[in-house]
Amino acid sequence: MEKYDYLIVGAGLFGATIAYRAKKAGKKVLVIDKRNHIAGNVYTENIENINVHKYGAHIFHTDYKDVWEFVNSFVEFNRYTNSPIARIEKEIYNLPFNMNTFSKIWSDVYTPEDALRHINSERKEITGEPKNLEEQAISLVGRTIYEKLIKGYTEKQWNRDCKDLPAFIIKRLPVRLVYDNNYFNDKYQGIPIGGYTKLVEKMLDGIEVKLNTDFFDNILEYKKMCNKIVYTGAIDEYFNYSLGKLEYRSLLFKTKVINLENFQGNAVVNYTGREVDYTRVIEHKHFEYGNQPKTVITYEYPTDFKEGMEKYYTVNDEKNNELAEKYRKLALQEKNVIFGGRLAEYKYYDMDDVIKKALDVNI
Ligand code: FAD
Ligand code: UDP
Repeated sequence: MEKYDYLIVGAGLFGATIAYRAKKAGKKVLVIDKRNHIAGNVYTENIENINVHKYGAHIFHTDYKDVWEFVNSFVEFNRYTNSPIARIEKEIYNLPFNMNTFSKIWSDVYTPEDALRHINSERKEITGEPKNLEEQAISLVGRTIYEKLIKGYTEKQWNRDCKDLPAFIIKRLPVRLVYDNNYFNDKYQGIPIGGYTKLVEKMLDGIEVKLNTDFFDNILEYKKMCNKIVYTGAIDEYFNYSLGKLEYRSLLFKTKVINLENFQGNAVVNYTGREVDYTRVIEHKHFEYGNQPKTVITYEYPTDFKEGMEKYYTVNDEKNNELAEKYRKLALQEKNVIFGGRLAEYKYYDMDDVIKKALDVNI
């Protein structure tokens, strides 16, 4: 039997980063993935000459210089800046919450001082440290914006009342008193020209990859054939759910080709109200400033996770975090196995967090 230094379970960004580094260090590497393609959740597929983000819109943004340099060493990135539009019934607002949003919400807002007058008066209803997402949101931007742009979206996304969700989820979004629709505060941002699949293809160049191959179908065999395993799947699944099941949220994507050059004028439109069941509509060509004659759009519907679906989001409330911590302790005892990435660490990681972690692993 062939012997590998590293068997890497998962050809997503964590697995591909480790695979690249291990190969560069002269190690013999095998990457397996149960899907029929590489790149994990950042996989892009060419449809009508447009790079379609098959598992949801992915915008690369980071403050880590080493991560930015790393990804740019494989492919060129464009200057895309994420500026989603929020749509509720017949109204349109800019995101994240900034002066453009505030001046449209309140007709007497022209200056930051005007905006603060409204926000401060509305945030008074929350006294003390916010205890949940609703309180956190109101204390950030007030009740008017909470009800128009946050409550509906969040409850569709997580299928829970905002009072039962952790505050940290909403802290991801910037609140700014300047006219700036950039969704992120990070120093570097862009989309890989030619799609994410190309990025991961370059990372895995010259590395043996076996697709349609599930680690759990042959776990003992795989353990025998390598010195170290890098595992990027779900941590509870690795331990056969011995301590109980962690919760996840899933998504359903409905993708359509439309015979129109420009469907919605923006890559990302968030539907923040309850009048529709989807949370976002993505028009993929706008990530790369495409001018193809047709367009491809995707409706994103959040859904409860059921067996057989993809585990897109971890649910990092107290109960699940406690259970995940127990699994992480078990993982520490697992000899010669590195657990890394969103599902194996059970953390709400962005792409750059995942790559950063993988760059910091001792090979
Ligand atoms: P994954 O990409 O999930 O890779 C894990 C791989 O392991 C998968 O290919 C899977 O098939 C494989 N695998 C699992 N179990 C097994 C097994 N038993 N045997 C074999 N293979 C297995 N981040 C950003 O920075 N910006 C964004 O705009 C952004 N948008 C997002 C939008 C959505 C809808 C989602 C869900 C996530 C988004 N993210 C975004 C987060 C980003 O997708 C992740 O941080 C990143 O892709 C995680 O990489 P990973 O390698 O940990 O996992
Ligand atoms: N959110 C919201 N309204 C929006 C966009 C986001 O209320 O229009 C909230 C929602 O709770 C969401 C969180 O902010 O879960 C984080 O949003 P982000 O866009 O970072 O989510 P992701 O891209 O990870 O799905």
